[in-house]
Amino acid sequence: MSLSEIVEQVHREMADHIGAGKVADYIPALAEIDPRKFGLAVVTCDGDTASAGDADEPFSIQSVSKVFTLTLALEKAGVALWERVGREPTGSAFNSIVQLEHEAGIPRNPLINAGAIVVTDELLADHTPEQTVEDIVAFLRTRADDPSVGIDLEVAWSEGDTGDRNASLAHFMRSFGNLKGRVEDVLHVYFRQCAIAMSCRQLARAGLYLAHAGTDPMTGERVISEVRTRRINAIMMSCGHYDASGEFAFQVGLPGKSGVGGGILAIAPRQAAIAVWSPGLNERGNSLVGTLALERLGALTGWSVF
Ligand code: GLU
Repeated sequence: MSLSEIVEQVHREMADHIGAGKVADYIPALAEIDPRKFGLAVVTCDGDTASAGDADEPFSIQSVSKVFTLTLALEKAGVALWERVGREPTGSAFNSIVQLEHEAGIPRNPLINAGAIVVTDELLADHTPEQTVEDIVAFLRTRADDPSVGIDLEVAWSEGDTGDRNASLAHFMRSFGNLKGRVEDVLHVYFRQCAIAMSCRQLARAGLYLAHAGTDPMTGERVISEVRTRRINAIMMSCGHYDASGEFAFQVGLPGKSGVGGGILAIAPRQAAIAVWSPGLNERGNSLVGTLALERLGALTGWSVF
């Protein structure tokens, strides 16, 4: 089967499931999304693309943004970043505060909220919040090769209105000396990075460097070193799906990062970047149909890191 046939088949197989799961409602602007949306896009290292469903419709990438800010922070801070954030799975919820107390304000990994807030703080050092937001969006526009990528400000404001837990995490870490910037500034950037809207096609294209040892196979540009690319993939595999990361590795077998908007970016090293979107979430906050679609895509392509 060709890649387009596989993607079409996965889309057809999902027909009975589409609409399943529960749309995130703790951010009011996300609660309004139609649960029957489904998009899937694959971009291969050879330059092939295939997509199905609502693959061109932008959605809120939410925590998928954490992979891209981690890339930028590693480039900026190098290994010193690991003094401020760990790389162990948590086994607790994405916004948990309990572990932080035991671990003296050093979050377990950069893909949970506390860790991502530290990563954002690293990007903010020596920059204004506005400049930092612009740099993140500019990075995604370049990586997606699409200047239309932008922020859904309604979602960003909605996050701000309901962001007490994130504010608590930030204040708590600051009390341990693990936040350099002002909490308001760090959250300003964090809420906007989460509210970036991208389509599956843009997201898969943007993540392609992670499938190609840190270079963009379309342009030849080096985005990040090969070693760091492996490390980001390792963290996605062990920590990319909140406290269900083991389950995702078991079911799909690829590094991936999910967001509460229902998007998942998955990486098949040396093969392709894959983005899927279906807003209904399972009980652990990961896209229910998106995970199923990736499982089927993996089975039909044979892509797995195992
Ligand atoms: N902006 C969301 C929050 O911090 C991100 C949640 C997610 O996608 O995991 O609550």
